[in-house]
This record gives sequence, C-alpha cells and structure tokens, in this order.
Amino acid sequence: MKHRTGNLFVISGPSGAGKTALCQRLLEVIHGLKFSVSYTTRQPRQGEINDIHYTFVDETKFRAMISDGEFVEWAMVHGSLYGTSKRRIESMINACLDVMLDIDAQGAKQIKEAFPDSMLIFILPPSMDTLKERLVGRRSNNRESIEERTNKAIDEIRRYKSYDYVIINDAFDDALKRLSAIIIAERAKISRIDQDWIKDNF
Ligand code: 5GP
Repeated sequence: MKHRTGNLFVISGPSGAGKTALCQRLLEVIHGLKFSVSYTTRQPRQGEINDIHYTFVDETKFRAMISDGEFVEWAMVHGSLYGTSKRRIESMINACLDVMLDIDAQGAKQIKEAFPDSMLIFILPPSMDTLKERLVGRRSNNRESIEERTNKAIDEIRRYKSYDYVIINDAFDDALKRLSAIIIAERAKISRIDQDWIKDNF
C-alpha cells in the first residue's frame, strides 16, 4: 500500500512505565518505523551512543539551535534540555517512513499542534506501586531523583487525556501487541493512503 507521507507516533509515559523497552522492541517488530533521535544536554549514561540514543550537545549549542528554529519542540525535563529536530523528522516522513518519538507530555502537546495528524500514545504502569518499585530498582536513580521522578510521573499521568491512546504495560508482550496494533491500524486509514495510487492501479 502506498502512503502519501509517513506518520508520527508520539510515545510518552512516566519514568518506570517501561516505555523505553517497549519502544525498542516496537522498532524491531514494525517494519518501516524509525526512531527520531532527540538532542539533549544531559550526560550520556553507560552504554548510550551518540546519535543512536540521543545526540548529546552542550547547553550553548542547544540554545543556539533553539534560536535557529531547529526544534519542532523542546522542553526542560529533570533539569536537562531535550529537543526534537525538525529536519530529522521531516526527512523521514517525506521518505514515507513512520517516525516514533519518545518524548514527554510537554513535547507531545507541541508535536500535536505542529502535526495535527500525529498519534499520541500514553504508556501507563499497571499501578503506582509498580512504578515506584521500578524506580527504586534502577541503580542510576539516587534518592532525590526517585522522588523527583515519582512527582513528575504523577504530573505526567494527569495529562493522559490529551493523548489518543492509552496502553497499560501490565504484561510486556500484551502491551507490545496493543501498541503494534495501533500502528498497523493507523497505517490502513483512508486519510493516510495515497488515493492516486489506488486510482492508477485499480
Ligand atoms: P531520559 O533522559 O530518561 O532518556 O528521558 C527523560 C525524559 O525525557 C523521558 O520522558 C523522555 O520521553 C523525554 N524526552 C526524550 N527526548 C525528548 C525530546 O526530544 N523532547 C521532549 N519534550 N522530551 C524528551
């Protein structure tokens, strides 16, 4: 099936919802879905590779990119700056690739304003207790950051109504199936397909 352009799928969810693992697996199972690598001023964590997980830049460079209008959205998250490159996502959607963005609720809102057809998907943990357990289990989070992330999680969860879909990550494989189903169904929408291609071929 021919598509006019690629689609944007924005995936958000509080820290500890299991969003990153779901997103990584989704990229492996859905052909033609590409990850939009964000820019950030935060330090790389162990194992993170520049231009694969994030493009790591200093604050001066990030601020210059804001002034030059290079971001379609940007936000301050947990004390660091994060932004989505306009050029990166436009080149992918123009090449008819679907793009997955793993960004926070502030960014999701800005993406929906710039790209009204984008689909916003919110990942929830099965319960608040599970979320806290997952945050405590992460060695990279110190006491302060667990508290900060729990508060930010509560704030983020309150914003679920501005999303198009909600996935509860209770069992990984089930959640992955539901997430994949959204993308597959979205690709088949009449408004998404190249109607000239149908006219020319049938
Ligand atoms: P982490 O530093 O743990 O990878 O990500 C922290 C948070 O920043 C996550 O909620 C992630 O979705 C969000 N984030 C990552 N990239 C971007 C971006 O480009 N824009 C916005 N607004 N949030 C982002």
